[in-house]
Amino acid sequence: MVDLIPSPDTVMQMLKRTGAFREGHFVYPNGKHSPHYFQMPLAFRYYDTARVLAVALSRKFRVDRDISSQLPRVSIISPSSGGIPVAFGVRDALSAEQIYWAEQESDQRRFRQYINEGEVNPCIMVDDIIRSGNAIDETSALVKELGAPIIGCGAIVRFTSAPEKLGDVPIRSLVDFDAHMYDSGDDCSDCKKGVPIETVRF
Ligand SMILES: [Zn+2]
Repeated sequence: MVDLIPSPDTVMQMLKRTGAFREGHFVYPNGKHSPHYFQMPLAFRYYDTARVLAVALSRKFRVDRDISSQLPRVSIISPSSGGIPVAFGVRDALSAEQIYWAEQESDQRRFRQYINEGEVNPCIMVDDIIRSGNAIDETSALVKELGAPIIGCGAIVRFTSAPEKLGDVPIRSLVDFDAHMYDSGDDCSDCKKGVPIETVRF
C-alpha cells in the first residue's frame, strides 16, 4: 500500500503541471519576495489530481495503528478553505465519519459549523499547504476546547520552516519544501538581477 504513495518529485511535477507551483519572482501581500509560488487550489480543480493527492496523504495516516484502529469514528478537520478538498478526499479514502472546517472570521478562526463539546470524534487535521503552521495551531486550540484529541496531522506540502509536529503528533506531508523568502526587495536575489516582479494575491 505504501508503494502507492507518489514520490515528492512526482507530486511536484503534478503541482507544476496544474499551475499550483510556479517559479518566477513573486511579491506577496505582506511584502515578502520569493522565487516560488504555490496556489494549491489550482491542483484541486482537477478531480483526478485531487483524488491522487488526497489518497496518497490518506495512506500516510492509515499506516499509523493508533489512527487505523479508531476508524471510522474519526473526524477530518480543515483549518482553512484551502484544506476543504483535501479533507473530503482524505475522508473518502479513510471512510471517516465526520468532516469539519474552520474559517477566518474578522481576525478570529472559528469552525464553520456550530459544534458542541463532545460531538467531535478524534481528529485528523489536514491542509493543502502548511507554511508557518499558524492555521493548524489556531485550529488545534479550537479542537481542544471541544474536548477532542488530535491523532493525526498532514498536508500535501509542508514548508521546512514550519513545525514538524503538532503537539506529539508528527505532521505528515507528500512534499517537504525548502521555501526561499526574502523580507523585502533589498535582500532579494531576483531584484538584484532586475527580474520583473509579479504581485500575487495570496
Ligand atoms: Zn525581489
